[in-house]
Amino acid sequence: MKFFIQSRNDDLSNRLMEKAKKYLVDFGLVLDEENPDIVLSIGGDGTLLHAFHKYKHLTRSVAFVGIHTGHLGFYADWKPAEIEKLVISIAQKEFEVIEYPLLEVTINYRHEEDSSVYLAVNESTVKSPDVTLVMDVELNGKPFERFRGDGLCMSTPSGSTAYNKALGGAIVHPSLEAMQLAEIASINNRVFRTVGSSLVLPKHHTCLLKPVKGPDFMVTIDHLHLLHKDVQSIKYRVADEKIRFARFRSFPFWQRVHDSFIDSDLKND
Ligand code: NAP
Repeated sequence: MKFFIQSRNDDLSNRLMEKAKKYLVDFGLVLDEENPDIVLSIGGDGTLLHAFHKYKHLTRSVAFVGIHTGHLGFYADWKPAEIEKLVISIAQKEFEVIEYPLLEVTINYRHEEDSSVYLAVNESTVKSPDVTLVMDVELNGKPFERFRGDGLCMSTPSGSTAYNKALGGAIVHPSLEAMQLAEIASINNRVFRTVGSSLVLPKHHTCLLKPVKGPDFMVTIDHLHLLHKDVQSIKYRVADEKIRFARFRSFPFWQRVHDSFIDSDLKND
């Protein structure tokens, strides 16, 4: 089996990376940065986002596993003290793979035939660089609302605990193939009206954003911030591709939500 290790590049993460690399090579695994079967991400959830984007062309074959060197992560759920146990599991066990939905983002431009297509693990947001964002929102080809405000955020289920949660969106279990549209500070008064709640859309539904004002937009794809000029539309759908995680033990999603947001030490008594 071929592996690669992505580190957050702090001292602890780098030390763990060297330790894990030595163990895995001793167990006969091959370090292969180009075409790994498994990628260990050591750092935080942000490190896993970087690792995914490095290997997004290998979504069908590569599996990720995350170790957190800070607080417990949603993607990085192994503790540094468990690294030996994890390495032995990787070397000796056929691992189970669990898949989480991704978001497909297609940006079309006014004067270009080519569009840009991206995959997001957490979310994509759209903001206007210097004025209020004004976008017509279409759902499945039908006009839904004219949005005015700071921006819009479309998240995946596993990204629902990230920026989406800070916007008051719902936490969505990653077994649901869905995407969630949340508002970022919408303008609501007697004249301007938006739905106000976030919308959870199933697979095969589409959400199209059409600019009403200004052709240039700041579009984020996870940690990537990109200025797109002359935008005609931005289309969101649940991607056909998924992110694959190597699973060696059970750590249910709701337990991770509980341990991250409620209480990591609470005992079930
Ligand atoms: P960052 O500032 O390092 O990350 C922001 C925080 O989001 C970090 O604490 C990160 O955890 C956490 N995070 C990432 N994915 C998560 C997930 N699925 N569930 C819960 N928490 C998660 O920025 P970055 O490393 O470039 O990461 C970009 C991400 O930051 C975006 O995808 C967005 O979701 C998030 N973000 C959040 C807010 C907000 O909450 N107000 C605003 C902007 C962006 P780790 O410390 O484990 O890496």
